[in-house]
Amino acid sequence: MELAERADALPNGPGVYLFKTAAGRVLYVGKAQNLRARVRSYLGGGDGRPHIPLLMDRSEDVDVIVTVSVKDALLLENELIKRHKPPFNVRLRDDKQYLALRLDPRETWPRLTQVRRFRRDGAAYFGPYTSSIAMRESVSNLRRIFPLRSCREAVFRDYARRGRPCIEYEMKRCLGPCCGLVSREAYDELVRGTTLFLRGRSGELSETLQERMRDAAAAERFEDAARLRNQIQAVARTVERQQMVTPQAIDRDVFALARRGGEIEVQALHVRDGRVMGTQGFGFSGVSLDDGDVMSSFLGQFYGAEEGREIPAEVLTPLPIEDDGALAALFEERSGRRIAMRAPKRGRLAQLLATAHANAELGLAQRLEARESVEAASAELQQALGLRRLPRHVEGYDVSTFAGTLSVASRVVFRDGQPSKADFRRYRIRDAAPDDDLACLREVLARRLARAESEPLPDLMLVDGGKGQLSVLCTALADAGLEADAIALAKERDTQSRSPRVRRSGGLKSERIFVPGRKDPVVLPASSRALLLLQRIRDESHRFAIEFQRELRSKAGLVSILEELPGIGPSKRRALLRELGSLRAVRSASLERLASVPGISARDAATLQRFFTALSLPGEAEADPQEGAPQ
Ligand code: SF4
Repeated sequence: MELAERADALPNGPGVYLFKTAAGRVLYVGKAQNLRARVRSYLGGGDGRPHIPLLMDRSEDVDVIVTVSVKDALLLENELIKRHKPPFNVRLRDDKQYLALRLDPRETWPRLTQVRRFRRDGAAYFGPYTSSIAMRESVSNLRRIFPLRSCREAVFRDYARRGRPCIEYEMKRCLGPCCGLVSREAYDELVRGTTLFLRGRSGELSETLQERMRDAAAAERFEDAARLRNQIQAVARTVERQQMVTPQAIDRDVFALARRGGEIEVQALHVRDGRVMGTQGFGFSGVSLDDGDVMSSFLGQFYGAEEGREIPAEVLTPLPIEDDGALAALFEERSGRRIAMRAPKRGRLAQLLATAHANAELGLAQRLEARESVEAASAELQQALGLRRLPRHVEGYDVSTFAGTLSVASRVVFRDGQPSKADFRRYRIRDAAPDDDLACLREVLARRLARAESEPLPDLMLVDGGKGQLSVLCTALADAGLEADAIALAKERDTQSRSPRVRRSGGLKSERIFVPGRKDPVVLPASSRALLLLQRIRDESHRFAIEFQRELRSKAGLVSILEELPGIGPSKRRALLRELGSLRAVRSASLERLASVPGISARDAATLQRFFTALSLPGEAEADPQEGAPQ
């Protein structure tokens, strides 16, 4: 059936429509109060939005899902955008990580923790913070005023057992709940104060503190009154530093949008109690939707339930949102109150929008500049290494071996110079000998290339290492019958010590790039943008592999790690634990004692001891995967 015929047969109630290619790929997801009228408007040419001609050129089919209301359609639209990632929609990236503070009032002695995601789990979240420095500074100021405990549960229990508080108590940064040195009521007051402060409710907080100060003075609790006075002063000093933008103590989120062609930057300015508490920028590329559609889709996702963001009393946008009231209904349902949505053209609120807009322009300019620099680096790389394609999509691999016993590997993915964290992968080596770096790499690459159909190959594959690693990569590609540019990046080594040599040239290490078919490695100047890009990818893959290995080596994982050691299977592990009683005893046993366990050979004993010795070394002995690689 033709698209036009299908449109005529659609229901005229609310719902979601999906434009698709002939092969079924979803190109665009939209919502409508009247599905038939909306889909027809795409076909009739009456809708002048810029993305429509392009979308109609490629669309062969349209599906609809009927919903009870346009608000439900909005929720479903967000869900489908996340699932199908349609190229014509704007999508808040899943791997965008936020820095935020979490406070769970259900804990016995609540504390602030740093998190990277908002969740709807009953805890309170504050932020986002633009940098970890800004966040740490905020927490450190706050703990001087409201000294909540900072320790983890295990540390808390440890000090409670010892019966004396830690140094934080001496430094007056904690009131010592671990040892019963603070009453429940007093601690609860700290939690309340922290919450009000982080919510930006400084006015309410000051009033509460002043009332409590007066009560304390009236009851002749002068020490408490003095402490409260200090808190009031400290709050006032901190608040003074935050910029006041409106005289009304109202909470608002202000959104602005800057655009150059398909490049868009949306900026959010969070105003709490009339003061700017933070900003956030979101970049989108290749967007053909008009500004109104971008804003409407963005807001639906920004305040989506999974994001867990608080919806303030007022939301300001640069242009009116025309979505048949879907967003307003969603906001009302989520917050349980009416949320004012405005697009002011004059006055103080318009000035606030102008401030957000200036930030959006700045964010866009910086992003485009960074992209230009990445484009230049990619072009330089292509030219210097003779690559077939411009390396826009790069995968980097690293193997990490722990004392020759436990090997893991990582894959990182960079697109246009930016890490694409959702595509990062971690591998536990299954078959290769853990002390054989090249065999481990071979196994990981074979596993990766076996998925080439569902995960298309990148423009460039990079391995950390020298000629040996490069040869493994090229052979793996040839064995799989696949083609991609391949290189290896190695730090220059001292031939005597085999350790990376720090050749001072502008204070930077010299690096060698191995390319198939070239006898000598390519050495780019230390300041080359192309080299910096490769180093960033290599360092990220190294960091990611080490992080995985540390996780595996964490205490909880040690018993299972025993099984991963070469030659130590479940039966040997059981024998060790049965004979020696505990993991701790296995760890501290001598070589002879280990070898005396039935079923444990001298070689097994040596493996175990090497592993546990490395585990207890300060800084942990991480074998460099390039160690021993043919150069
Ligand atoms: S004093 Fe006790 S509760 Fe406070 S941070 Fe130290 S261990 Fe934790």
